Amino acid sequence: ALSASNRTTAEWKKIDSAHHLHPFTDFKGLTDEGGARLIVRAEGPYLYDSEGTKILDGMAGLWCVNVGYGRKELAEAAYAQMQELPYYNTFFKTTTMPATELARQLVELTPEGLNHAFFAGSGSEANDTVIRMVRRYWALEGQPQRQVIIGRRNGYHGSTLAALSLGGMSAMHTQSGILPGFAHIEPPHWFQLGYHEDPDAFGVKAAGWLEDKIQEVGPDSVAAFIAEPIQGAGGLVYPPATYWAEIQRVCHKYGILLIVDEVICGFGRTGNWFGSQTFDIKPDLMPLAKGMSSGYQPIAAVMVGDRVADTLISKGGEFFHGYTYSGHPVACAVALENIRILRDEGIVDRVRTDTGPYFQKRLRELADHPIVGEVRGIGMIAGIELIRDKARHEFFDDVGKVGTIARDHSFANGLIMRAVYDTLVLSPPLILTHDHIDELVEKVRL
Ligand code: PLP
Repeated sequence: ALSASNRTTAEWKKIDSAHHLHPFTDFKGLTDEGGARLIVRAEGPYLYDSEGTKILDGMAGLWCVNVGYGRKELAEAAYAQMQELPYYNTFFKTTTMPATELARQLVELTPEGLNHAFFAGSGSEANDTVIRMVRRYWALEGQPQRQVIIGRRNGYHGSTLAALSLGGMSAMHTQSGILPGFAHIEPPHWFQLGYHEDPDAFGVKAAGWLEDKIQEVGPDSVAAFIAEPIQGAGGLVYPPATYWAEIQRVCHKYGILLIVDEVICGFGRTGNWFGSQTFDIKPDLMPLAKGMSSGYQPIAAVMVGDRVADTLISKGGEFFHGYTYSGHPVACAVALENIRILRDEGIVDRVRTDTGPYFQKRLRELADHPIVGEVRGIGMIAGIELIRDKARHEFFDDVGKVGTIARDHSFANGLIMRAVYDTLVLSPPLILTHDHIDELVEKVRL
């Protein structure tokens, strides 16, 4: 392994700065700061850097290492599959056993009515596939003018040009432009947009923004609505109890497709296999990634509901779409073993009945802190929104500054959190014990 090399940390950092352009990074800023922290190994919920520092990973990598680090069964599943069949594609009338079995198991685990899986390599690719399927569906249904997909401000669906257009991250739109055919509404952010209102009434009002947008775009031009069950990368926006039922009512009223992006919420994070089960949502299309393999292999899928699948299959002919690594056998084998671990070790059930409620309860104790405005979340996903004046409900003027300071401080103290503006986000591995949770909460408070 490269970790056995005798390069010093400084040498690694120098080479990295000289040759490696990191995602979502100020390239020059990183070099000026002396380079990136070098992570060398991991076990359970802990990472270790090249200096031997132990860090509690409150983000499960990028919201993905659901079963925690160091699971040898996943390495063994990959090794066995690589020896037997390291690669073959699923194009042109061939298939492989891992892809077939994974499709079957995903259909079994996901909500009723999603009976087909289309594989991809990442969440961004899965969402590109979603766009292709939505457009194809409406063309085959004789309504090709239905092109517009409505997403939400600060929604995140990936980083390709199509996925970022679906998403509502203004900084990404500003840098790259946005493709035609996308519109966005505000997310149901009660703490920021509805604080003085009854949360249930606010949930209905926020869902009404979808209907307003459909009217503005023109009901005959709208193809679909996309949202995450809980908005993650956009600042942990937890929906009021009334929101999702009302969103579904609006989608049905106008006959538009509902896409529920489960890339973060899937595979146990909210205490059920999928966020759609937690919030009682019936999606037409459901992109999955991240926790599907706990990040041990890059893999994603789009679960396709019967309404779309029936049309694509019965009327579609060849669908000119797919990726070299769609249904990659090694990635599928690892995903299957990951699903087995989540199920057989009762991890999803434990998040629902034990560790999730404990995590949420302990985090809510932070509400007594002078700048903690709201703690929200469910299961193993949470946001802590910081605010300048709680009594007056006044936010910080320099948005994001205090959040960044708090995040950097916790990083120095051995806990990885994320800061989205002034909301601290936590999405740890699902295997945390009560002791790990106690350690995490103490480190957040520091
Ligand atoms: N969808 C959601 C909800 C995400 O949070 C992400 C990534 O964070 C993506 C899609 C994109 O996934 P990927 O980074 O694998 O392309």
